[in-house]
Amino acid sequence: MTRTLGIHDSVGAVFPPAVLAAELDGPDAVDVSIVGTGDLDGLDALVTFAHDDAFLEADLRWVHSVQAGVDKFPLGEYEARGITVTNSTGLHGASVGETVAGYMLSFARRLHEYRSNQERSEWAWADREDSFTVDGSSVSVVGLGTLGKGIAARADALGMDVTGVKRTPTPVDHVDRVHPTGELHEAIADAKFVALAVPLTDDTESMVGDAEFAAMRDDAVLLNVARGPVVDQSALVDALRNDELAGAALDVFETEPLPEDSPLWDFDDVIVTPHAAAATRDYPENIAALVTENARRLAAGERLGNTVV
Ligand code: NAD
Repeated sequence: MTRTLGIHDSVGAVFPPAVLAAELDGPDAVDVSIVGTGDLDGLDALVTFAHDDAFLEADLRWVHSVQAGVDKFPLGEYEARGITVTNSTGLHGASVGETVAGYMLSFARRLHEYRSNQERSEWAWADREDSFTVDGSSVSVVGLGTLGKGIAARADALGMDVTGVKRTPTPVDHVDRVHPTGELHEAIADAKFVALAVPLTDDTESMVGDAEFAAMRDDAVLLNVARGPVVDQSALVDALRNDELAGAALDVFETEPLPEDSPLWDFDDVIVTPHAAAATRDYPENIAALVTENARRLAAGERLGNTVV
């Protein structure tokens, strides 16, 4: 086992660090403490939500991100210092898949509209033209890793036609057609829903902007559970205002928390969730399983699971 493992207090953005500390306090216990940025001395390993430059100067051998996305971590600098970075991918297929299924069902069955009406005690049907079933509808899933596969499996189970976008277009279960990234426009052109599930990288930043909204159906709905900057947010607002898009469900934004004056709060057909698509009560337990196994591997000199660099 590792000598000492810190849980950085930034983890509190996702769940109380003490819950993870308790989960790790089992028979195979690592020596765990909850630490701030100033208390890194003597630690071998750190579990964290956020990056801090102080991590690069400490004596750490391993840093684990409690998120799947590590786009805020300067990975080259960690690599140059020989600090292994691991992420939490692999955990979110069911949670995010269900959230995206929920978004699609809400748009089809107008549930968000009825919930808004309820706040005004208003008994009124949605416009019949806006109501449909996801059964027989279509979704294009951009990125077919843990999230994308979780979304595709649930969409398929709901009777939807599923298109996918993948860097290498090999077949994927529950996906009817797989396109390479270079055919993004063809892949999204006919879909009622376009779900984004790629990591934020130089290649995916602003992957969806004016040209993609023009390529999509005017009655399409964008679902973003990836990272805010994958979408050109001002192009999205323009597309919504100009009826080039019927709606959006957004869990991630260019700036989080979404600023109070963002126009995205005000569209009837935009569902805003607070980067909560993957949140479950089991999350600390799932992270603890990943961390415990990697702590064992670190002690045994084995390659860590979910290694990013
Ligand atoms: P993953 O590594 O399992 O899958 C990512 C997939 O995207 C990989 O298959 C990869 O090949 C593919 N990809 C990368 N660049 C691509 C491109 N240009 N075109 C098409 N495909 C491309 O990761 P994951 O667990 O599925 O998570 C994906 C991302 O979603 C994370 O990096 C994170 O930013 C985000 N995420 C958000 C939440 C949330 O709470 N909203 C939760 C988990 C993950």
